[in-house]
Amino acid sequence: MAEFDVIIIGAGPGGYVSAIRCAQLGLKTAVVEGRETLGGTCLNVGCIPSKALLHASHMLHEAEENFAKMGLKGKAPSVDWKQMVAYKDDVIGQNTKGVEFLFKKNKITWLKGWGSIPGPGKVKVGDETHGAKHIVIATGSEASSLKGVEVDEKAVVTSTGALELVKVPKTMVVIGAGVIGLELGSVYARLGTEVTVIEFLDQITPGMDGDVQKTFQRILKKQGLEIILGAAVQGADVKRGKATVTYKLRKDDSEATLDADCVLVATGRRPFTEGLGLDKLGVELEKGGQVKTDGHFATNIKGIYAIGDAIAGPMLAHKAEDEGMALAEILAGNAGHVNYNVIPGVIYTTPEVATVGKTEEQLKEEGRAYKVGKFSFMGNGRAKAVFQGEGFVKLLADKETDRILGAHIIGPAAGDLIHEICVGMEFGAAAEDIALTCHAHPTFSEAVREAALACGDGPIHA
Ligand code: FAD
Repeated sequence: MAEFDVIIIGAGPGGYVSAIRCAQLGLKTAVVEGRETLGGTCLNVGCIPSKALLHASHMLHEAEENFAKMGLKGKAPSVDWKQMVAYKDDVIGQNTKGVEFLFKKNKITWLKGWGSIPGPGKVKVGDETHGAKHIVIATGSEASSLKGVEVDEKAVVTSTGALELVKVPKTMVVIGAGVIGLELGSVYARLGTEVTVIEFLDQITPGMDGDVQKTFQRILKKQGLEIILGAAVQGADVKRGKATVTYKLRKDDSEATLDADCVLVATGRRPFTEGLGLDKLGVELEKGGQVKTDGHFATNIKGIYAIGDAIAGPMLAHKAEDEGMALAEILAGNAGHVNYNVIPGVIYTTPEVATVGKTEEQLKEEGRAYKVGKFSFMGNGRAKAVFQGEGFVKLLADKETDRILGAHIIGPAAGDLIHEICVGMEFGAAAEDIALTCHAHPTFSEAVREAALACGDGPIHA
């Protein structure tokens, strides 16, 4: 039995980042991981592989749509799906091996296998039980199931199966118009699949700013995605490898069916804590199955903590990482804090969508006086040069103090542009602070400055 200061269960972005910071702070650290490779959902079957396929399919789209316009003539490339999957797997391998290298560098012990917590201060992996002053649950999440829709990871898949299909399907139904469904739907649409997205609510990307939702939906439709809103899926039947999805339109209860080679169930994710023995230990859970924690990631059982997708809050890799780092500081006796008001969210389609802080709908509901500064990428020279003039930057600022309350961007490199606003918000910046900052020309980031100018005396290029 080995003794550690900290044992973390789960090597996703929450767990592995926390382990590295714990080790850097001088704590003897071990991580339990049941998967063959480190990096969790994010590196193995989430963020990284999906971005590799988004990149590859975007390149194809560029070749098909824009190369000839720039004088780059010749046949557009054809899709070698096996090679595309191999490229994606190579990207995964580079990243997971990178985490393994960091574990060795920081002298973190990888306890290979599935872990459970037989009692406070103890973690069991296989036949061995190890001791720890602190135990961290970082076991992440799994795809939610949907009544009447049985996943076989062949004809009916979760995001994990969608990253491993044997061939590009001719037709695909995506259930759920959230981030994962739209990203993977976009990949297949660009590869030539006829994609239909069915969403229960009356708009896509629930919770996002309404302006962004409308523009994003219009752009996706233009890109060939069929979107059916306000529809409740009743079930999916698979016969001879083909699926039939039945759905009911909520407005009139009328029923309809859709046939597809592949159905992607993308209706969200739920926390994964199975097999840990939390019941026996008496660890309290929230209604949704998340581990209940206080403001310092502590559960109701002394010495047991939880972070990442396994606890409440947005299921995002960077949120898990930030919690992992903050908790490591706390365990080392320092102060650790996550500012949940400034957690960006990004959708990596083309154009990208990025958001931080309050939406306009939230500010209205709060009754807060605000102003809007909006600037279209049509007024941005660089965006037009790369055929990405669609979309806008929308900045929301307090009407009195000019303090930035939120930002919503749909357009080129939105996922990177949003961080200028995040830093500003962390420093309590006013829109004027961004407007008075010199931005290099020609960059996409000038659109952020113009939106900030639009909160004051007005933008220049509109
Ligand atoms: P996870 O990454 O889920 O890791 C938990 C690990 O714990 C797993 O490896 C699991 O095997 C292990 N584990 C569980 N139980 C045990 C046990 N008992 N013993 C040992 N090991 C155990 N987020 C973003 O921010 N950006 C994106 O672009 C993005 N894209 C995504 C795309 C897809 C298709 C999916 C599915 C998710 C995406 N996410 C994205 C979400 C992101 O992957 C998660 O928010 C993030 O991985 C959560 O990190 P975590 O450390 O909490 O858990």
